[in-house]
Amino acid sequence: MKIDEMPKIVLHLHLDGSLDLDTAFKWCMEDGIKISKKELIREMQVNGECHSLNDYLKKFILPCKLLQTSERLTEATYKIFVKLAKLNVVYAEVRFAPNKHLEKGMDLESAVESVILGMNRAMKEVSIDGGIILCLMRGDSNEDNLKIIDVAKKYLEKGVLGIDLAGAEALFPTEDYADLFVYAKSLNIPFTIHAGEAGKINDIDSALNFGTKRIGHGIKSAEDELIQNRLISNNVLLEICVTSNYQTKAVNGIHPLEKLYNKGIKISINTDNDTVSNININKEYEKILNETKLGYDDLLKCNMESIPFIFANKDIKKKLQKILLDFKNSKK
Ligand SMILES: [Zn+2]
Repeated sequence: MKIDEMPKIVLHLHLDGSLDLDTAFKWCMEDGIKISKKELIREMQVNGECHSLNDYLKKFILPCKLLQTSERLTEATYKIFVKLAKLNVVYAEVRFAPNKHLEKGMDLESAVESVILGMNRAMKEVSIDGGIILCLMRGDSNEDNLKIIDVAKKYLEKGVLGIDLAGAEALFPTEDYADLFVYAKSLNIPFTIHAGEAGKINDIDSALNFGTKRIGHGIKSAEDELIQNRLISNNVLLEICVTSNYQTKAVNGIHPLEKLYNKGIKISINTDNDTVSNININKEYEKILNETKLGYDDLLKCNMESIPFIFANKDIKKKLQKILLDFKNSKK
């Protein structure tokens, strides 16, 4: 059975970290940035010099610099959704941090509308469902992050599906952001939180205390049985990104994916950043098949089990269930 035939659900993908190299090169030329293709790859993709999440995050500097206009945000988003559809992704939640795109005068609303426009344009051409997650940033002021929550509310179910907390976890602990999630909850905005990637188990604990049903990475939970039990009893999904975890050195040695899956924790498989990590979702699945004992059926199960956790409405959930079940039955 081939991975590219499997209908897949992608829940953890960053827009800026997935800007394709050709488009980035085209924009560098437009902006008069003197850079060779080789140098561009070095700027935007991890190589042997990546030692930490903080090193990894440096690869976002150039794409962010390029993504400062409405037209570009639209084009980048459109291209990502079209690409995902070609990889047989049937549902994708793409995330971005609107605050990182305001350097040339764009306002928050325009940034969000531009991304929604790109997604909607793609959805008219290719067969894919999904939505946008707005990232609050660790290190940004509470005031700035609160504005993102308000914008998320304004566009909720009009393209935006929820919020996330991203950025340098080791420098800014999750517990400091409690107020933001109290506010998001009061507005009924679904959320996920990057936690237990480069940070500590405490970060997962805090995310669970905030009431999250999804955690970005959460791999540090493999070190603590109590947290694993809490993930199970709270019915929380981990958005796992194997390649990215090796590159950021969040994982050395055997990846805990298998251990967590076998324990009964719900897992969604993702790439985090297609360009920064030099991967795509099909290659990520192949890698898991080659490097773990998990098989094709396990990956299909991960997709099935992810459906209740997506931020889209019941109708989309039903549609995805049918697509995946039909696929499963066709393979019997
Ligand atoms: Zn991420």
